[in-house]
Amino acid sequence: MFALVDGNNFYCSCERVFQPRLQGRPMVVLSNNDGCAIARSDESKQLGIKMGAPFFQIKDLERTAGLVALSANFTLYGDMSARMMSLAAEMGPEQEIYSIDESFIGLAGVRKTEITQRAWDTRTKILQWTGIPTCVGIGSTKTLAKLANYIAKTTDRKPGSYPVRLGKVCNLVDLNDRQRRLLYENTAIGEVWGIGRRISKQLESSGVETIWQFMQLDAGTVRSRWSVVLERTWRELHGQSCISIEEAAAKKEIAHTRSFGHPVTEITELASAITEFATRAAAKARKQNSNVGQVLVFARTSPFRVKDTQYSRSIVVPLSRPCADTLQITSAALAGLKRLYKPGINYCKAGVMLLDLQDAAIHQSELGLFDIEDAEKSKRLMKAIDAVTDRFGHGSIQLGAALLGKKKWEKRQERRTPHYTTSLAEVAIARA
Ligand SMILES: [Mg+2]
Repeated sequence: MFALVDGNNFYCSCERVFQPRLQGRPMVVLSNNDGCAIARSDESKQLGIKMGAPFFQIKDLERTAGLVALSANFTLYGDMSARMMSLAAEMGPEQEIYSIDESFIGLAGVRKTEITQRAWDTRTKILQWTGIPTCVGIGSTKTLAKLANYIAKTTDRKPGSYPVRLGKVCNLVDLNDRQRRLLYENTAIGEVWGIGRRISKQLESSGVETIWQFMQLDAGTVRSRWSVVLERTWRELHGQSCISIEEAAAKKEIAHTRSFGHPVTEITELASAITEFATRAAAKARKQNSNVGQVLVFARTSPFRVKDTQYSRSIVVPLSRPCADTLQITSAALAGLKRLYKPGINYCKAGVMLLDLQDAAIHQSELGLFDIEDAEKSKRLMKAIDAVTDRFGHGSIQLGAALLGKKKWEKRQERRTPHYTTSLAEVAIARA
């Protein structure tokens, strides 16, 4: 049995904890340079604001509908997340943090009759201690827990969609077959975890629109017509657990991309950004013990600056030998940048993606005799860099190229709320 504890409109909820006046008002949180909406409250969803909507397109709503738009305050969200996660962890013996506001709780050993009450207690405690509202979904597999969470959330958000008693906490295991069937018949297949838009379109065109209809197919058909992955989802919906806790494997690619605060045209400035992205990405690769085979670098203009000459290009640079060395990864990224750079262009977004990741432990044993010395040297240097970064923070030790540009590309955050919980200078002040 699994529970999924998920923060409602998480970024917006974090902001509301410290600004209760935002309660009930339409609000959005903007991406790192105030470019577009990355989180929406229920009220702003009702205004028709779409995920990723460019800010300039919805700015009018500040005046006409009382919309509040804030810069993302990731320091605050990260900290609130840690608090929420530590409370959620109390619900069962195992926890897998799935995203900044979602964690799966493994419920092995918890008595079945106690689970629903436990979920309510956890929810109440998180709300009282942190101010973050959550929904809890419970099922016999992770896919079902995720589905139950969707039902718990949607029941509140869209009254009439499901029976009221399934709101906030939904335990599918407590229901009988008939009740469950009714839910599955009333839920589109596209709402199932792992079924993307492409697959759900394919399913729909062959007459499979609801979860119930999908479950009536047989496993063999699902596998042969679609994939083993979809078959796994089918089995999970039937209550056969295929995705265990902590199975979330190391990521297959690592990306570090950013929109710039202002358009960038000079190559030195782009190089400074790319150097920093590559440095961060390389550190992530080392953290998950991966070696990198290919480095992708891209830069592009903004489709919203219609008068600018549009340009978008990405280049993949293979490394001569897979590694997780910041120097090699960065010089590959910079070599790619040199090839794609065109003067006179207003670049608005760029990024580095590390591809072709391989287990560093396996790779080590394949090194030739003469490579080993180089590899050892690099490893010691990276260890030192990581130690400095861990202790003094990102940017405390940098490659020279990162300092060349004037950092105009760095994020613009004119609307950020204070770091309430992590900086004494910015702590909330109560006035009588
Ligand atoms: Mg959420």
